[in-house]
Amino acid sequence: MTWQVDILTLFPEMFPGFLEFSLSGKALNRGEWSFCTHALRNFGLGNHKAVDDTPFGGGAGMVIRPDVLSFALEATQPKDNRPMVYLSPKGKLLTQASIQHYASGPGVYLICGRYEGIDDRVLRHYPIEEVSIGDYILSGGEPAALIFMDACIRLLPGVMGSLQSGVEESFSKGLLEYPHYTKPAVWEGKHVPDILKSGNHQAIALWREKQAQLITQERRPDLWERVANVNK
Ligand code: SAM
Repeated sequence: MTWQVDILTLFPEMFPGFLEFSLSGKALNRGEWSFCTHALRNFGLGNHKAVDDTPFGGGAGMVIRPDVLSFALEATQPKDNRPMVYLSPKGKLLTQASIQHYASGPGVYLICGRYEGIDDRVLRHYPIEEVSIGDYILSGGEPAALIFMDACIRLLPGVMGSLQSGVEESFSKGLLEYPHYTKPAVWEGKHVPDILKSGNHQAIALWREKQAQLITQERRPDLWERVANVNK
C-alpha cells in the first residue's frame, strides 16, 4: 500500500525537494509513498488571489484568511481517514514515537503556514492536529513538512535496508544511540574500543546499551529522566 501525503502550500514547487534523492527518492520511484501538492494560491480572493490579511488587534505581519483556507480544505481534504496536520511552532512537539504513529497509518494531509500563521478559528473548525518540529521559528511550514515526511518515509516497510537500524537508532528506545566506528581501526592515534573487535556479540550488545545510557544521561537528562520514570 502506498503511504499518501497531500500538502496544502503556497509553494508547491518546494516538493518533493530533497526527498527525491537517496532512500526516499528510490521509495518514491517504487511507489512506496506518493504525494500530491495543492496550491493555496488557487483558492485566493480577487484578481491578486489574496490568501492573507492584516491581523485583528494590530501587530506585524499577515495572517492566512480562514475563508480561503476553508475553500482549499473543502476542495482537497482527504476523503479517507488520514490525519490533517498543521505544521506549527505552537503544536505538539514531534517525537520518534509520533513519527512511528503517522508512518504506520495510510498517510497524512499536511498544511503549511506562512506569514504569522493561519487564523485560529480554522483549527477549531476542522479536526486538525498541530505539530511542531522544534522550539524555533521557520519562515514557513514547507521545510517542516519535508522533515516530517522524511522521518516517516524512512520507517515505511522496505525503505530502510536493515529493519534493525530503525529499532536501534536514537529515540527508538527512549535513549540516544551508542557511538559508531568503522575502518581504519586506528585513526589519528585514536583506537576503536577493543570490545567491538572481540566478536563477542553479547558483550558488544551490553557495551552498546551502557554507552547509550551514558550518552543519554550526559547529553539529554530530560530523556534519561523519562526513561527512568517509565522503568520505575
Ligand atoms: N507567528 C508564528 C509564531 O510565533 O508562532 C510563527 C509563524 S512562522 C514565521 C510561519 C509558518 O512556519 C507557521 O505558520 C508554520 O506553518 C511554520 N513553522 C514555523 N516554525 C515551525 C516549527 N517549529 N514547526 C513547524 N512549523 C513551523
